[in-house]
Amino acid sequence: MWSREILMKLKRLNITKRDRELARAYGYLPYMVARYREMLGDPLPLLDGFERTPPDAIRCNFLRVNCMRLKRRLETRGFVLHPVLWCPHAYEVLRKPYSLSSTPEHLDGWFYIQDAASTLPPLVLDPKPFERVADLAAAPGGKSTHLAQLMGNSGELYLFERRADRAKALMSNLERMEILNAKLVLGDAYDAPKHGPFDKILLDAPCTGEGVIARDPSRKRSRLPRDLALMHRVQVALLDRAIESLKKGGEVVYSTCSIAPEENELVIDAILKKRSDVEVVDSGAAGSPGVTRYLGWEFPFAGKCRRLWPHIHRSEGFFVCKLRRV
Ligand code: SAM
Repeated sequence: MWSREILMKLKRLNITKRDRELARAYGYLPYMVARYREMLGDPLPLLDGFERTPPDAIRCNFLRVNCMRLKRRLETRGFVLHPVLWCPHAYEVLRKPYSLSSTPEHLDGWFYIQDAASTLPPLVLDPKPFERVADLAAAPGGKSTHLAQLMGNSGELYLFERRADRAKALMSNLERMEILNAKLVLGDAYDAPKHGPFDKILLDAPCTGEGVIARDPSRKRSRLPRDLALMHRVQVALLDRAIESLKKGGEVVYSTCSIAPEENELVIDAILKKRSDVEVVDSGAAGSPGVTRYLGWEFPFAGKCRRLWPHIHRSEGFFVCKLRRV
């Protein structure tokens, strides 16, 4: 595994005078800005991107309502909606006269409030009615409810969540959105193989949240290199269990709301080195390709993965990659 090497490379990171100046001006720990320079060349567009909060988005629950009807209803209430480029049933909310969550349409399960980026992983997984599907990190259910929707509320959808408090929120979202095909497993996703094998799996992994700095500026200073190395280790272990739970030919989508290569390309790289029964699949989805070089590592597969960047896609920073068990 890469986690010791990650820590070593981050400790030896070359931090330039400009990195330090930008870090001071934008309020970051300097090692973060040095990494952005390593990833992007010039870190400035990303730093500026993180200064603009992306608009909220809503995903229409077409199990409950015709999406045009929902759009018209919210527009008569004064909301201004704009289609999300990569998701035909989601809208960015450009004007919000009052809280979306207090509308009767929300209470009635007609839509889910989420960042536009979060609609991408279920679309890339593309689950079909009557398949056996699992979401290994499910709460509060933004992606689980989307998966159920794409499955037409049929087939079997196993939802793993180990925290009881978060599982409560998940259950209330399942109920509100009238999801009928889900089975909640309150427990550890490491046990997923016991419930398998599955046709498709979503692993929207726990992460350090380095993509949501615009919504949570405290993340500019709250995490150290050792947090990235530790999280990398957890993510590799979870992705390994996900693959173990798949049928031969089955697919897993790995996603995070982080822009850190340590939590993304390096996780995929570690899995490809560890297992000989898995390959990266090009989903052809929206977004930019993954990072192909970083701190001396090379990721030849990364062109098949997708990234959403705050400064390019006006969303949270996000990573999505699809793998197939062969
Ligand atoms: N997919 C969710 C959504 O779209 O609403 C967000 C998932 S959040 C990034 C990660 C979730 O995984 C958290 O609720 C966390 O409690 C849960 N989790 C972390 N490690 C887990 C494990 N080993 N087994 C099951 N759930 C886990």
